[in-house]
Amino acid sequence: MQENIKSMARGFMCGYCFAQSGYDIVFADHSETRHVYGDLLEGKAIAVLKCRNCRMLNLLVFSVKEEDFGGSMEESELEPFLAEHPHVLSPGFSEEEGSIAPMWIELMGQYPHGFKLSRDVPVTIRYDLEEAGDCLAVGASNAAAVMCGRAIERLAADFGIKPDKTMMLGAMLGELKDRKLVSEDLFNAMSEVKEWRNIGAHPGKDDQGIELSQAQKIVEFTYLLVEQVFPRRDIHKVKDELKQMRNKK
Ligand SMILES: [Zn+2]
Repeated sequence: MQENIKSMARGFMCGYCFAQSGYDIVFADHSETRHVYGDLLEGKAIAVLKCRNCRMLNLLVFSVKEEDFGGSMEESELEPFLAEHPHVLSPGFSEEEGSIAPMWIELMGQYPHGFKLSRDVPVTIRYDLEEAGDCLAVGASNAAAVMCGRAIERLAADFGIKPDKTMMLGAMLGELKDRKLVSEDLFNAMSEVKEWRNIGAHPGKDDQGIELSQAQKIVEFTYLLVEQVFPRRDIHKVKDELKQMRNKK
């Protein structure tokens, strides 16, 4: 289990100090519960990593999955297989049948969510995004998408759309577009997050909501989107300062 965590936590970023200066695993374990017929009902793995920079504890949560691959394997192939699949906890190898049914772990999320944003990102947007990331660790995928929508709403306000309690996010984005305050690319990206926010916030026909893997992607996308916006606007700010200085010459 420790080896599984080590290979999966490569590049670990502390959610407190955002350092990537290494960690010690202070706890790691997994458990699963089975149906009477042997099917895996639910499984979770938990690892607590202590940051070597600030000594704070970070929690990593994994789901435990199991599947009969239907394939066959020689015993000699087992070791290379495990080396190539560091997320596999046990191969479920049956010597008699030569079959494998691996049980593996898949990262749900980290608490606190470790993702460093540029200092130029306003603190309110930063908090919304951190909360969105925190939701992943507990599998709150709809809530994660709603928090991403909230960050987009703040972003729209930061671009000059006055937040109004009666104004829906869609209307705010429409105004951004009409007033040409953002590029078409950025408008489309913000609208994509809004669509997912709507799925997460409102019960739909199928009521399936958002899957965790989708929420992970939405959170990653919103972080990237916000990261792209602020350094770009920073360039404008510095350019204006330089221009003013030049004009005074
Ligand atoms: Zn730290």
